[in-house]
Amino acid sequence: MRQDFHNLEVNKKKILVVGLGISGLYTARLLSAHGAEVTVSEILPESDLDPEILYDLRKLGITLETGGHKEETFLNSEMVIISPGVPHDTVLLNLSREKNIPVIGEMELAGRLIDTPMIAVTGTNGKSTVTSFFGCMLENAGFKVFVGGNIGTPLTAYAAEGKKADYAVVEVSSFQLDTIETFCPSVSVVLNISPDHLDRYPGYEAYVRSKLKIFGNQGPGQYVILNDDDKKLREVNVSSGATVLRYGTEKRQGRNAYIENDKIRASLDDAEPNTFSFKSFGLPGVHNLENLLPAVLGGMALGIDTPVIQKTIDEFKGLPNRLEHVAEYDGVAFYNDSKATNVDAAVRAVMSFKRPIILIAGGRHKGSDYVALAKAAKGKVRKALFLGEAKDLLASSFEGIVPFSIAKDMEEAVAMSFESAQNGDAVLLAPACSSFDMFTDYSHRGREFKTAVLRVIHG
Ligand code: ADP
Repeated sequence: MRQDFHNLEVNKKKILVVGLGISGLYTARLLSAHGAEVTVSEILPESDLDPEILYDLRKLGITLETGGHKEETFLNSEMVIISPGVPHDTVLLNLSREKNIPVIGEMELAGRLIDTPMIAVTGTNGKSTVTSFFGCMLENAGFKVFVGGNIGTPLTAYAAEGKKADYAVVEVSSFQLDTIETFCPSVSVVLNISPDHLDRYPGYEAYVRSKLKIFGNQGPGQYVILNDDDKKLREVNVSSGATVLRYGTEKRQGRNAYIENDKIRASLDDAEPNTFSFKSFGLPGVHNLENLLPAVLGGMALGIDTPVIQKTIDEFKGLPNRLEHVAEYDGVAFYNDSKATNVDAAVRAVMSFKRPIILIAGGRHKGSDYVALAKAAKGKVRKALFLGEAKDLLASSFEGIVPFSIAKDMEEAVAMSFESAQNGDAVLLAPACSSFDMFTDYSHRGREFKTAVLRVIHG
């Protein structure tokens, strides 16, 4: 398999890192270890930042500019590295580009500084689940694996450690893809594309273009795995010479993996397909079966033996906050899908249940409309409970379709869900919104939900 290694000279270069989150921190350390003269520019004031981190960076000789960005620092740099959380078209970044100062993202930087073959996973939903699955599968096959990127540890942290893994499995967000140039995985996966982050893109097409950049540098001997059930991805042509593998839930012409007679069938070419059982697969919902298809194809492309792939399907446990079963009480099951931060994920969550649902949704609105969720909820959701900034928008989409009430916070929503639920129902937190209006992040929201549920159960 071909692995491009784009060496980047950073020694003695003046490099500016924009944003001091986790990835900015590792980026600064990585560059410093490679001999660069590093400055970190952060919009937050020093009082809002972790003093230990600041101390560590200063000890490495890294210059810190906090409480805002300075034009002269940008223009005096020989290269600018931006963190995924930082918008990539600010005035100062555009000014740097105009002055021919390269502006790249941390994923691009890390990709240039490592020569470990990468498996890169993107998509609107399912990235973390599929990335973790790949990690487990490669470990089960006896490989040393780094799993990270947008999930957990940034790729720059792996690059900074200088350790050697056989493979790096990286979850890649659209924001990270916006700032790649040469990033080139051995295997890339695009799971699906549905409206999300429309608050950060000029429009849906710009978001789609960003996702498709993941395979833009791949070539012969490398694999692009695409979901053929996704309208946008079905239309995609890959002309680079990379091998394209397509999958969908039903058997169709040109699909390398599909489900037939309760079995997964997968082949890399015209050969007789390999068969995998999902009888022991533990994750709920059709979307999770869908997620197995690219993972199986990826495993086969990497030469992993069929029994190892099957073992991973049988043993994979999934991740917290993704349709996570929390408790069972009085015939009611409680599920935490706090990571359903967009409409499609919430729709998939609702579709995963045969039993009537009490749905808890709402949070910070990201620009998508909730009609699809209201349609999916019709006849399945007994009652919806809305909270957070998007509560009124949700209420107007659900009006006349599903009964709903407004809750002031998670505790009240959970208490109301207990009142509405009947024996045999599921209470489902699937917000369809981000969490930042009321919580630090989705896992904080999930924890609050679980705590509230357990408090009501145990008194
Ligand atoms: P991501 O890293 O892309 O956010 P996760 O694996 O963390 O993906 O899952 C995020 C949410 O999307 C969860 O609510 C999960 O149940 C849902 N989900 C997982 N896979 C899919 C899929 N293939 N299609 C739609 N929703 C999915």
